[in-house]
Amino acid sequence: MNPSQTSTSLFSRLRFVLVGTSHPGNIGAAARALKTMGFSQLVLVNPRFPDAVHHEEAIAFASGAQDILAAARVVGTIEEALEGCNFAAALSARLREFSPPVVTPRALAAQLCADAGLDAALVFGSERYGLPNDIIERCNVLINIPANPDYSSLNLAQAVQLLAYEARVAETGGAVPQTPVGFQGEAAKLAQIEGMYAHLEQALVAIDFLDPGNPKKLMPRLKRLFSRTGLETEEVNILRGIARQILQKLGRN
Ligand code: SAH
Repeated sequence: MNPSQTSTSLFSRLRFVLVGTSHPGNIGAAARALKTMGFSQLVLVNPRFPDAVHHEEAIAFASGAQDILAAARVVGTIEEALEGCNFAAALSARLREFSPPVVTPRALAAQLCADAGLDAALVFGSERYGLPNDIIERCNVLINIPANPDYSSLNLAQAVQLLAYEARVAETGGAVPQTPVGFQGEAAKLAQIEGMYAHLEQALVAIDFLDPGNPKKLMPRLKRLFSRTGLETEEVNILRGIARQILQKLGRN
């Protein structure tokens, strides 16, 4: 099932609130950030351009996420933006003397996933001023993205992207389509593998690579090497073919 379809999934319980955004491009890029991570709720509090969602730059930066941009809710106050929420996290590059508890994006994402009763908002500040104290103080936690202490202020849309990513990884368990590893063909039977080792050993003795009087740890090491590979029947047959050819060339078969 698509996780965004379940009502308790974080995809339907998390909104992204941008306060006083100056650059429409950042609003578009934020819409794209949300969509790439499977989120959809974007709320704009007093953007510098009231019609920012139709701004040329916003549209350009949103790219394929026009639907998220067009559906963004534009409101005049933080109260309206947080309506229906029972949890809010303020995003700030700067730590303050008086602030809610400071939490990392990852820890926050884990908390939001673990508690399906939370209808949460992530609140981001403006490019120039960040978030005002009165908004930070009304939030449950302050999220600080760990960054270079000498330059810790991320671009707004990139901060949005990072939070959306952490929330997605927490919600989906980081599941990504895997390239197939392990067996692609028929797994070799253990007896086939033993037969191949015996054949290989004969060939290695025949070319004087393995001294039967002083074998050291050659065969155990080779067995350990092959044991890590997940041998398939066809591969065992290839290795036996090589051994057979060596013995044939030397007239030992
Ligand atoms: N000049 C502002 C920073 C603006 S960056 C200031 O000094 O506060 C725009 C927004 O991106 C910030 O308000 C914050 O919500 C988010 N952001 C950027 N870097 C961040 C960081 N390291 N941790 C948390 N939020 C960050």
